[in-house]
Amino acid sequence: MKKFKLPALPYAYDALEPHISERTLRIHHDKHHKGYVDNANKILNRMSGDKSLLKSFSYNAAGQLLHSLFWTNMSPNGGGKPKGKLLKAISDDFGSYEAFKQEFSNAAKSVEGSGWAALTYSQDADGVVLIQIEKHNVNIVPSYELLLVIDVWEHAYYLDYQNNRGAFVEAFWEVVNWDEVSKRFNSVK
Ligand code: MN
Repeated sequence: MKKFKLPALPYAYDALEPHISERTLRIHHDKHHKGYVDNANKILNRMSGDKSLLKSFSYNAAGQLLHSLFWTNMSPNGGGKPKGKLLKAISDDFGSYEAFKQEFSNAAKSVEGSGWAALTYSQDADGVVLIQIEKHNVNIVPSYELLLVIDVWEHAYYLDYQNNRGAFVEAFWEVVNWDEVSKRFNSVK
C-alpha cells in the first residue's frame, strides 16, 4: 500500500529561534503538516476518478511535498548568501543576489490569502524562475523543480509575528539553508 510519511524535522523544534519559535514549529509540523500527510494517505488508496477526491489529493499531497522541502530549506546554521553555480544562476537571471532577494520577498509578501513563494529551476528556460503558489497546488508549473520555498500561510508566522507577514519573510533569510538549496540546484541543473 502506498503511503506518505511525515518526515522528522531535521533539527530540534527550538533550533530556529528567535526567528521561528518552538511553539510555531511544533504546531506547524506536528499538526498542519501531519494533517496533510494523513489526508493524502486517506485519499491515496481510494481514488477512482472522483473529481473532488482528486482535487483534495492534489492539495494534500502538494502540502506534504512543500512542507517536507520547507523544513530542509531552513537550518539553525542558515543565512548568508548562496555560492558557486547557484549564485551565478541567480545573478544571471535577476541581476544580482540583492535584486533576487527583493523580488522573492515581494512575491512572498504579496501572495493573496494562503500560499507560498518558490524559487524554481526551469529546464525549458534553462534558468531560475520565481513562482507564487496559491494554497499548495495552484499556479504550479509542471516540471519546474522547486529549489527554495517559503510558507506564507498565517499558521507559519501568526504566533510569532501576528499579521506582519513582512517581518516573517525578513526573518526567513536568517535561516535559509543555502547549502541544501545549492545541492538541489546542482542535482537538477
Ligand atoms: Mn504550512
